[in-house]
Amino acid sequence: MAKKEELECSFCKRKKEETNLLIAGVDAHICDKCIEQAHGIVLEEIIEEQKDKVSSEFLVKKPTEIKGFLDQYIIGQDQAKKVMSVAVYNHYKRLLHKPKNKEEEVEIEKSNIVIVGETGTGKTLIARTIAKMLEVPFAIVDATVLTEAGYVGEDVETILTRLLQAADYKVDKAERGIVFIDEIDKIARKSDNPSITRDVSGEGVQQALLKLLEGTVVNVPPKGGRKHPDQKFVEVDTKNILFIAGGAFSGIDKVISKRLNMQAVGYSASISEDNIDQDNLLQYVLPSDLKTFGLIPEIIGRLPALTYMLPLDKATLRSILTEPKNAIIKQYERLFEMDGIDFSIDEKALDYIVDKAMEYKLGARGLRSLCEEILTDAMFEMPGNEEKKLRVTKKYAETKLTKSTIKKLKAVS
Ligand code: ADP
Repeated sequence: MAKKEELECSFCKRKKEETNLLIAGVDAHICDKCIEQAHGIVLEEIIEEQKDKVSSEFLVKKPTEIKGFLDQYIIGQDQAKKVMSVAVYNHYKRLLHKPKNKEEEVEIEKSNIVIVGETGTGKTLIARTIAKMLEVPFAIVDATVLTEAGYVGEDVETILTRLLQAADYKVDKAERGIVFIDEIDKIARKSDNPSITRDVSGEGVQQALLKLLEGTVVNVPPKGGRKHPDQKFVEVDTKNILFIAGGAFSGIDKVISKRLNMQAVGYSASISEDNIDQDNLLQYVLPSDLKTFGLIPEIIGRLPALTYMLPLDKATLRSILTEPKNAIIKQYERLFEMDGIDFSIDEKALDYIVDKAMEYKLGARGLRSLCEEILTDAMFEMPGNEEKKLRVTKKYAETKLTKSTIKKLKAVS
C-alpha cells in the first residue's frame, strides 16, 4: 500500500497541523493564512481599479448635475446649492488637472467653502449629501472643541483622525475626503480690534486650522487624542481634502446691515436701501463681514467660496416633511410597510406638525421629534396586533402631542 501523503498547503507548504483550516481543490490545497493574504491582494487590486474609475466619474458630474443631486435631498437653498456645486466641481477638476509642462502651469487653488446660516438650516446636510454623491469619506468636526496644541481640548490634527476613521484608515481615500467644520464662528476673535479684547485661543486655533486648509502634510494620530501616546503617526496630506466650514455667525446680520446702510448713503451706492430684503440679510454676506465678525483674513482667504442658508419658513418645513428623497414621512411609510401596515397622514395633520415646529421654534430638527412623539404609540402597539391600517388625522396628532411632550422636545432641541 502506498504511503499516505501528508497534506500541506500548496502555496506556503505549511503542514495541515500547522494551519487552522486547509481547503482542498482539484490538485492542490490552500490554508487559511494564504486565503487571507490572497484576499488582501485582491482588495488592493480592486481599490486601485476603483481609484481610476472614481477619478473619471468625478469629471462626468457637471455642476448642474451636482445641483440636481442635491435637489433630491435638500429643499430650497438654491444659491447655496449652486455655489457648492461649482466649488465641488472645481475642486475635483483641480484634482484631475495634470500639468502639461511646468512653465505654463496655472495653479488652481483649492475651493474650500464657508456656509453662513442659522442652526438647523441644512448646512451639515448639504455637506453630507455631497460626500454621499461623490462616495468619498466624510467627517464632521466641531470647531468649539479644537484648541491650540498644548491646551486642554482636541488638537486640530484630530480632524484628520476622524476622516481617517471614516476612510477605514485608507490614507489615499482620506486624502480625497470632505471635512465639515461646524461652528467655525465660535473660534472667531471676539472683537475686530485685536488690541482691545484679543481672544488669543480663538485666533490660535484659526492659525492652526489655516495650515490644514492650505494643504500640508500632517502627522495624524490614528486613534486620536492624547490618550494613546504609543500610537504610530500616519502622514496625511491635506492638499486635496475639501473643507466645508459652517457657522450661524449670530449677529452677522447687524454687521451686514451696517455695511449696507453705509453703502446706501455713500456715493457709490450699489444697492439702494429700498431694494434690500431686510428679513434675509444673510444673502448679502461678503468675506469682509466675516472679518468684521472676527475670522482672520488668512482663514477667509482659504475659504474662497462663501455662501448662505436662508432661515426655514413654513412652506419649506412643510416640503421637508414629505418631498426629499429620504423625507421623514417617506421613512415612516416604509417602516410601517415592513410590518404590513398601511400608513397615511392627512394634509391637515402635516400642517399641524409644521405649525408646532414654527410655534416652538423647533426648526427642521424638531419635525422628526414631533413625528416620533405622535407615532411612538402606534409603532409600539401595531406590529403585535391585528390592526393593519393607520391614518393620522390632525385630531390624532393633537391627542398624542400634549403640551408637556412639546415642552420636553423644546428642552432637548
Ligand atoms: P445645520 O448643520 O445647519 O445645523 P442640519 O444640516 O444638521 O443643520 O439640519 C438638520 C436637519 O434638518 C437635517 O437632518 C434635515 O433633516 C433637515 N433639514 C434642514 N434643512 C433642510 C432642507 N433645506 N431640506 C431638507 N431637509 C432639511
